Amino acid sequence: MDIKELDQKYVMHTYARNDIVIDHGKGSVVYDTDGKSYIDFTSGIGVCSIGYGNEKQIAAVSEQVSKLAHISNLFYTAPCAQVAEKLIQRTDMGAVFFGNSGAEANEGMVKLARKYSHDKYGEGRSTILTLLNSFHGRTITTLKATGQDHFHDFFMPFTPGFSYAPANDYDALIAQVKDDTCAIMLELIQGEGGVMPMDKEYVQKVATYCKEHDLLLLIDEVQTGIGRTGKLFAYMNYDIQPDVVSFAKGIAGGLPMGGFICNKDLTDVLGPGDHGSTFGGNPIACASANVVLDVLTDEVIEDVAKKGDYIRKTIASWNSSMITSVRGMGMMIGLGLNGAVNKDLCKALRERGLLILTAGQNTLRLLPPLTTTMEEIDKGLEIMEGLFAE
Ligand code: PLP
Repeated sequence: MDIKELDQKYVMHTYARNDIVIDHGKGSVVYDTDGKSYIDFTSGIGVCSIGYGNEKQIAAVSEQVSKLAHISNLFYTAPCAQVAEKLIQRTDMGAVFFGNSGAEANEGMVKLARKYSHDKYGEGRSTILTLLNSFHGRTITTLKATGQDHFHDFFMPFTPGFSYAPANDYDALIAQVKDDTCAIMLELIQGEGGVMPMDKEYVQKVATYCKEHDLLLLIDEVQTGIGRTGKLFAYMNYDIQPDVVSFAKGIAGGLPMGGFICNKDLTDVLGPGDHGSTFGGNPIACASANVVLDVLTDEVIEDVAKKGDYIRKTIASWNSSMITSVRGMGMMIGLGLNGAVNKDLCKALRERGLLILTAGQNTLRLLPPLTTTMEEIDKGLEIMEGLFAE
């Protein structure tokens, strides 16, 4: 049986797969099993941050798997401690918890916020405000944290203790704050919701309000983090200091890893037994994350901002009637579409050798590897221009 038939027969049908089987990649180009090449502006949905086949990553992961694949969090291991040190040195925050995915990272932030509030104020102060059109994950709690009604079907009962406010509306958000509120959780650019950036002034006012009222500010950087927006974390573009920041996707360049970083005053909120994850801080994933953080120096991340500006300006200059807006920050880019069907456009681009994502109802999304070269960017843009100019 061929791969597609095998997959269709034995894997649950929870994804609408593209009609190709990807075999391998190099740089920002991937190849299907027929040998056709594609410029990849998806990076595995923001995961393969340093592209495919990075020699240092291959060496570090191979060495680690031959030395020690796993041991459990009952022991110290070097790769885990080293990734944590790098994240703390570059954020000046307090401590890191490692898990395996974005949803798990956000669940951990929710637990930390509720424990902080419980320790200080006792039971009942546990509600977390999130934004309409947000996306925070697929577990029962993070689905409920997600401010989109259609995610709240079928799987009830959901975790209680979430309420929602429209994005970029300070007064509406503050009107939702009640005596039982303990935290506000935000994506700074709503990724799955259509690449919708928050206004700087709004975010700064929310951060100030949180400080004044002892609400924890939880920033979901699962998609925006690890260099994606032209800073190590998107919050750095907003000149704020969150209390807790989650990360996942790009951190380990293709290996499963997620987690959250808390400020110095919160490092002891979660103690032994309060939280854990068997695979969290796994040595192979951490060996890979160490390489990612070394490759993504401040200079490389500054380039992400420049490359992103270049992509946005180039697309805006086409004056295509199909594109209504070009949004985003760094190499997290959304193209608003004028009624054109996202899926059809993706298919047409794929047939011409470019992989691209959708987001929300009417948006095409670009998340190229952060190390994509100008040559690869130009090739991808040329393919896009060919279609949008038609
Ligand atoms: N939070 C945000 C902002 C995301 O974009 C995603 C995934 O797209 C998640 C959370 C969930 O991450 P994961 O699929 O790794 O659980």
